[in-house]
Amino acid sequence: MNIALIAHDMKKDMMIHFTTAYENILKDHKLFATGTTGKRIMENTDLEIERFQSGPLGGDQQIGAEIANNRMDMVIFLRDPLTAQPHEPDIQALIRLCDVYMIPVATNIATAELLIRALERGDLQWRNFVRES
Ligand code: PGA
Repeated sequence: MNIALIAHDMKKDMMIHFTTAYENILKDHKLFATGTTGKRIMENTDLEIERFQSGPLGGDQQIGAEIANNRMDMVIFLRDPLTAQPHEPDIQALIRLCDVYMIPVATNIATAELLIRALERGDLQWRNFVRES
């Protein structure tokens, strides 16, 4: 599966904890991230991440383009709902595209845990058929 990882600044430590805890599952998948999130994950784990631009510089839009091109299977987006983001329109657009293309998306850690467990069980195998169609 192709998995995108994004965390706003106040949630980056949480993303490190998450990717550390589930490193064994995540290492078997192709991982993508916005710039700073990807850098932090690679500094703190042995995971390989393909990095896009930083979120405010277009990274969310780049991940959105991957979704529109049917190349992303899951998005873990630890949003900070308590801080104004300069790129709020990009964030909304990304979540919207997840809904357009029916991409599993978690916007908080509780749902992220559920998605990762679904991934481990193989519940997302249907994405292979959709991606290759
Ligand atoms: P970042 O971008 O990983 O480069 O910090 C995330 C965001 O703010 O959308």
